[in-house]
Amino acid sequence: MKSYYLTTAIDYSNGDPHLGHALEKVGADAIARWHRLRGEPVHFVMGMDENAQKVILAADAAGRPPAAWLDAMSERFDSTWKRLECSHDDWMRTTEPRHARGVKALIEQIQARNPDDLFVGEYEGRYCVGCEEFKSESQIVNGRCIEHPSRELVPTKERNTFFRLSRWRDPVLAAIRSGAFRVEPAIRRNEMLRVLEDGLQDISISRGRLAWGIPFPGTADETVYVWFDALINYLSATGYPDAGYEKLWPADLHVIGKGITRFHCIIWPAMLMAAGVPLPAMVWAHGYVQWGGAKVSKSEGTSVSLDEAIERHGPDALRWFLLREVGFENDGDFSFERFDARYEGDLANGLGNLAARVTAMLEKYRGGIVPVGAHVPEPLDTAGTELAAEYASAMAAIDLKGAAEILSRLVSEANGYIVANAPWTLAKAGDDARLDVVLASLARCLLRLSVLASPFMPAKAQVLWTALGQPGSPEKEWRLALQPDLAGARVAKPDNLFPKPAA
Ligand SMILES: [Zn+2]
Repeated sequence: MKSYYLTTAIDYSNGDPHLGHALEKVGADAIARWHRLRGEPVHFVMGMDENAQKVILAADAAGRPPAAWLDAMSERFDSTWKRLECSHDDWMRTTEPRHARGVKALIEQIQARNPDDLFVGEYEGRYCVGCEEFKSESQIVNGRCIEHPSRELVPTKERNTFFRLSRWRDPVLAAIRSGAFRVEPAIRRNEMLRVLEDGLQDISISRGRLAWGIPFPGTADETVYVWFDALINYLSATGYPDAGYEKLWPADLHVIGKGITRFHCIIWPAMLMAAGVPLPAMVWAHGYVQWGGAKVSKSEGTSVSLDEAIERHGPDALRWFLLREVGFENDGDFSFERFDARYEGDLANGLGNLAARVTAMLEKYRGGIVPVGAHVPEPLDTAGTELAAEYASAMAAIDLKGAAEILSRLVSEANGYIVANAPWTLAKAGDDARLDVVLASLARCLLRLSVLASPFMPAKAQVLWTALGQPGSPEKEWRLALQPDLAGARVAKPDNLFPKPAA
């Protein structure tokens, strides 16, 4: 069975990881975890883009030799993503020899199959070092790049190698229209279709030989343009061009930000077509995390420290907030007020309080042993089965915000069921049979919730799972979200699931 192969964008090593990066990584991680939960083999790759001019400028500015700077940045990013519980299987750095081999092989494959696609020409234009690309008039506002209004554009004139991108317009357009190559969400697909319908210009894909970067095959003095090199990381991470790379390729999903869709949805498929390599199945382009209405990014200097955000309520809570509130489709605001409100509402008073109440009642009334209950499903079981199916549809559609909201709906259903059935009244009345039914249904609901929570909050889902007396972890146990069975299990109050912040 081919692994579900997904990637995130690789980040420039020119500054610390921030909340904008974090949204992408935890979103992709939730998708990876969702596929594992269903029992699929998954291969999840993240990494660093280390061949950019601005990376070397950052190393110089820091007074560090480039190699030492890159190692330190790579460690910093990788350890931050691990702290946020990202479960990547591979960490690709574009300065690695395996990547240089992949780049060389892909360019040589284009040279061999479509030699007319590469030609020497002269380029004159305005270059944004932030984006590492030439900007067209439609991408320039007030003389500046739209993505980098604080940077000066650099007038540049160069003689170098071009890729005949214009020739691939119709095939790329057809692949997107037919869905053979999916660009999601629809707003991004429509943007790409408009760009393609307007026509494409050929692009410069080499630079005069730089001290840093991958030599352009067949030339004496050119370096591969950093974007052309960076995109190939998704392929070189599979072991390409060695036999067996097809075990991973084509990729199932590239997760990126909406600012780099033209590279991933137009240039990348054209490069692959020119080389005769199959296209990835899908690109998902998420929106931006905003802080006070502005995009959170290194270059624009918006200051919200990722470490501070993680420490506020812990990594699981930050993952939850980013995916539940900011979302994975449109832009969304980050604020500590909203973060605190979500933490208290959804987690401390929501899932955390429910788990504490139900386990406390099981301990008090049944010595911590889940009763068998009834053979006929309770309304809470029926609701749980329906919501689990809705959750599955949302996850399959990469509607992470929707899936998170469904999880909270199940918490509300359980709280409503407790109020409607008042277990304490049943205990007082000595209605043991009915109390068994109610407690068993609530326990099953908690088990479902631990499974549904696992892609979003892996560590907290594990705490709940263990408190419910389950061995191992929920990470491959989707069947228990559909048909939870907990009769006879010994449960205990989960330890510090979502502590209330000190007032
Ligand atoms: Zn820019």
